[in-house]
Parts: sequence; structure tokens; C-alpha cells
Amino acid sequence: MPEGKGLLIVYTGPGKGKTTCALGTAFRAVGQGLRVLMVQFIKGSWHYGELDAAKMLGDDKFEIKPMGRGFIKIGGAETDPEDLKLCQECWNFGKDQIYSGKYDLVVLDEINYVISYKMLDGEQIAEALVKRPEHVHVICTGRNAHPKLVEAADLVTEMREVKHPYTKGILAQRGIDY
Ligand code: ATP
Ligand code: MG
Repeated sequence: MPEGKGLLIVYTGPGKGKTTCALGTAFRAVGQGLRVLMVQFIKGSWHYGELDAAKMLGDDKFEIKPMGRGFIKIGGAETDPEDLKLCQECWNFGKDQIYSGKYDLVVLDEINYVISYKMLDGEQIAEALVKRPEHVHVICTGRNAHPKLVEAADLVTEMREVKHPYTKGILAQRGIDY
């Protein structure tokens, strides 16, 4: 594969580290002068450390755009139409940015979740990502990656939980989890 060919990357699985891994890759990419964008499905209300860290690097180098409201209502009654709307807007925005060719790496954070909740169509998304401009790297994070996305991807890593402090009742830690 020639250098300069964009990869389609998926970080999935039940263990911790999917978003962190995407952030680590983004950090590495920024160091190489690549322009990076992370759009975040679902996330919106919590203040994560990476939002400030990205600002320190500069918006022209690494921009993070939370486009949710911090949670989604599913199960019981139907999915909230507001969440569907936000998801659709986030995908449309992310896709436009990927197709603009303006970025070298675009991270679609937690997109696998919203696909697995059937809030977006995995097959259509996989198709659109395959047809993206050639130089653009894309990372999709979240549990339960869609089979079509896994099939289309060049790199898929599944995080496996061996231990997580949460099972001992240890709650999210500043700087580690947010
Ligand atoms: P991180 O953002 O820390 O890399 P992640 O992207 O792999 O985690 P998500 O499924 O997006 O995981 O969940 C986000 C939140 O849930 C984080 O606060 C994370 O610490 C927590 N979490 C992740 N995996 C587990 C787990 N196996 N058990 C309990 N909590 C978890
Ligand atoms: Mg995550």
C-alpha cells in the first residue's frame, strides 16, 4: 500500500481504551503535521480533559466537536427523536468534513454505538467511508462495531476487558476517564 493512503480504522470491544486510543493516534498525527478533527456522537455535557488539551494544541491542528447532549434515551419507549436528529446531524457534519479533504484524520467517536442502537445505518456509513477521498484516515470508535464497517476497515482492534476498576466500585477518575 503506498504511503499517503488513508486507512479506515475501527476501535471496538467492551474493554476501556477505544476513545483513548483514538486520542493517542490524533496526538501522534498532530506531531506529524496532520490536520485532525474528532466529531463526537452522544458526548456533549461532560467536560473531558481532551477538549482543553486539543485547544492547547490549537483548533487549526486538532479540533474536537462534541455534537450530542451527553446521553441518549433508549429502551423502554422509543428512541428520543431529538437524539436521532443530533446523530444524523453529527454524521452529516462528519461525512462533509471527511469529503472536504480538509483533514488528514477524522475520528468519528462513539459512532459504533449509535449504529448498534440503529440510530444510523451501518451499511450506508460503511459505503460512504469506503468512497471517501483517498488520503483521509478515518477512525470509528465504540462498542459493537457493525459487521460491514469491520469488513470495510483496514485495521480493527477489539479492546478486551481483563480488569476494570468500576467492578470494584471505583468511579471514573479525572485525567484517566475524563
Ligand atoms: P475511554 O474513553 O476511557 O478510552 P472507551 O472509549 O473504551 O473508554 P466507552 O465505551 O466510550 O469506552 O465508555 C466511556 C466511559 O466508560 C469511560 O469513562 C470509561 O472509563 C468507561 N468504561 C470503559 N470501559 C469500561 C468497562 N469495561 N467497565 C466500566 N466502565 C468502562
Ligand atoms: Mg469511547
